[in-house]
Amino acid sequence: MSTSLTTLLDDLVAANRILAGLGIVDGFGHISVRHPDRPDRFLLSRSLAPELVTRDDIMEFELDGTPVAGDSRKPYLERFIHGEILRKRPDVNAVVHSHAPSVVPFSSSSSRLRPICHMGSFLRNGVSVFEIRERFGATDMLIRNVEQGAALADVLAGDTVVLMRGHGFCSVGQTIPVAVFRAVYTQNNAELQSRTMALGGEVTYLDDDEAALSEATNRAVIDRPWGLWKSRFAPAD
Ligand code: MN
Repeated sequence: MSTSLTTLLDDLVAANRILAGLGIVDGFGHISVRHPDRPDRFLLSRSLAPELVTRDDIMEFELDGTPVAGDSRKPYLERFIHGEILRKRPDVNAVVHSHAPSVVPFSSSSSRLRPICHMGSFLRNGVSVFEIRERFGATDMLIRNVEQGAALADVLAGDTVVLMRGHGFCSVGQTIPVAVFRAVYTQNNAELQSRTMALGGEVTYLDDDEAALSEATNRAVIDRPWGLWKSRFAPAD
C-alpha cells in the first residue's frame, strides 16, 4: 500500500471514532474519502456503527456505489451520497453524513441554518435543504440509488454543507479533517442558533465579510482540534 493510502485509512478510521465520540453520528451515519490513487473510487466502511470501524472494515467503491473486486460484505444503503457528491465535486475528497439531532430541525423548518458564531462561518451562504419528496415522491427518506445521490449533490452544489429534510445533513471538505470539522461545527452552530432564536429577540448572524474572514482564520488552525480529537477518541496503538 502507498504511504498516502495508509495515512488516509488511518485518518478515516480516526474520523469514524471522532464523529461517534462527539455525538455527530451514533449507530448511523458515515464518512468517506476519495481514493488517493484512483479519483474515480472512494473508501467507506462496510455497514457498521462508526465507533466500531477498524481499518479491516473499509471497503473500496466505484463512484456509482459498486464494491470493487467483488467485495461481498454488506455496504451502507446510503453509499450513493458519497459517490455522487465526489463525482460532482472534484474539489471534495471527504464526505460526512450525519443525523445529528440539533441539525435536523433546520431541515424541517423555513428557518435557515446560518452562521451564528465564528466557528460556523463556513455556513456563510445559509444552508440549502434537499427535499427528497420533490423528485422522488414518498420514500423512506434514504438516499438509496445513484439518481437520489445525484439530486442531493445538485442541491449541495458548490457549498460546504447540505441539509436533508426530515433526515440529517452532509458536510464536505478537501480533506478528512476539514469535512469532520464542518460536521462538528454544523452541529455546534445549530445548537447555538436554536438557543439564540429561543431568546425571542432579533437574531444577528455573521455577515458575508465576517464569515469569509473568519473562515480563512479557522481553516489555518484545523490541525489543532483535529489533533485533540484524535488523541481523545482515536489514540495511536
Ligand atoms: Mn442517513
